[in-house]
Amino acid sequence: MARFEYAPAPESRDIGRLKEHYGIFVDGAFRDGAGEAVKTINPANEEPLAEVAEAGPSDVDDAVRAARRAFSPWAALSGRERAKYLFRIARAIQERSRELAVLESLDNGKPIKESRDVDVPLAAAHFFYYAGWADKLSYAGFGPDPKPIGVAGQIIPWNFPLLMAAWKIAPALACGNTVILKPAETTPLTALTLAEIIAEADLPPGVVNILAGGPEIGQAIVEHDGIDKIAFTGSTEVGKIIQRTIAGTGKRVSLELGGKAANIIFEDAALDQAIEGIVNGIFFNQGHVCCAGSRLLVQESVADEVIAALQARLMTLRLGDPLDKNTDIGAINSAAQLARIRELTDSGEAEGAERWSPPCEIPERGYWFAPTVFTHVSQANTIAREEIFGPVLSVLTFRTPAEAVEKANNTPYGLSAGIWTEKGSRILWFAQQLRAGVIWANTFNRFDPGSPFGGYKESGFGREGGRHGLEAYLAH
Ligand code: NAD
Repeated sequence: MARFEYAPAPESRDIGRLKEHYGIFVDGAFRDGAGEAVKTINPANEEPLAEVAEAGPSDVDDAVRAARRAFSPWAALSGRERAKYLFRIARAIQERSRELAVLESLDNGKPIKESRDVDVPLAAAHFFYYAGWADKLSYAGFGPDPKPIGVAGQIIPWNFPLLMAAWKIAPALACGNTVILKPAETTPLTALTLAEIIAEADLPPGVVNILAGGPEIGQAIVEHDGIDKIAFTGSTEVGKIIQRTIAGTGKRVSLELGGKAANIIFEDAALDQAIEGIVNGIFFNQGHVCCAGSRLLVQESVADEVIAALQARLMTLRLGDPLDKNTDIGAINSAAQLARIRELTDSGEAEGAERWSPPCEIPERGYWFAPTVFTHVSQANTIAREEIFGPVLSVLTFRTPAEAVEKANNTPYGLSAGIWTEKGSRILWFAQQLRAGVIWANTFNRFDPGSPFGGYKESGFGREGGRHGLEAYLAH
């Protein structure tokens, strides 16, 4: 496969309008948090981007007080009035989309073509979508006069910082709740820029509060008596801690956790198309995707052909500067995540799987990991069981549909799966057999605000997106 040489095409860093210092957003105003002032760094070169004055426990108290005060008047507004604010936020995200995309790529390390074409447009689409529901809640199938829950504490991870904030805030506000959102410690910048947009949209003070901070601030939010609902996206490990913490408190909870999705390729699939789906499934966002297709199940009769075509395709991927518009693989978000990927891939080799990466130049500074494919993987291998959350694919084979189902379901997770076949009846049969919340057919990693997303088993419970996503923010 030919690999064209492109001249560098970097997006300008200035478009990100990076500030030297960021505070937290409480009761409609920005201020320095009572916690530590930390530097957020660019994972592509390890240079500091900005200083963030993080929240302390007293800020959580203040944010909860503000959100409680704001709750009754916000909930009492007509849905039509609430929708106006959401439409305004959606439009402002679109207007500042280039700035948000650059900021996201700087803080997270993801390629600009992904932040520009996926993260930011989907974040705006989410606000548009839930703005549309705000005055139609009585027709959503949750009773004639559904009520909001109250104050929601929302904790999000670092892999889609702006998009996850949109997934959390938009449905909560549409239903009449007020929120306290905590972005992940390594990626606070787009959430704090969203706070600016929210302030400019004239949202009443206290309806949205955004607290930068680490796990202890997350924990303070989870434990706070003034919070009625916790919405968490992150690791299964922390999801379990949260569930234990709130047991018996009456707090509502929704958990979007990890995954180890099977991407299943049948011999009758359109193989060129499937190769693109495999690449998108595991190398999109450096594999920092909870629903990534990290376990490739290929029918034995086409396994050699698929692996050869996949390797040829991977030779064409460009790893490097996230701000370059030609970049396919950006930086790993943090030193800690890179260490985890290395540890798990080393275990893959130690347990006997065969490792392959295309030749690729790794920049000297920053956190980088070459796209990696493991073959001769057995189901018992650590790399076939544990979520790696990196650009690493484990390839397994199967002979019959029944074997594919058994292998796909042989995981404690149940977030997503993909199936590639020309046969419609097989797709429908598979969808019934697989224990996964989202099943893509002849595509992968497709998202739409109108379609619900969420897991089974250790991937969590509750749905985000679509009509179903309203349920997580309505009282029963
Ligand atoms: P993480 O669980 O370590 O952190 C997630 C968030 O929780 C961060 O904001 C963190 O500060 C906070 N946190 C950490 N400990 C806490 C505690 N004890 N109490 C309250 N909050 C706490 O996860 P991560 O490493 O940031 O993200 C990666 C994980 O997220 C992966 O497992 C991935 O699969 C999952 N994820 C799931 C989805 C989904 O929709 N299912 C989406 C994205 C990421």
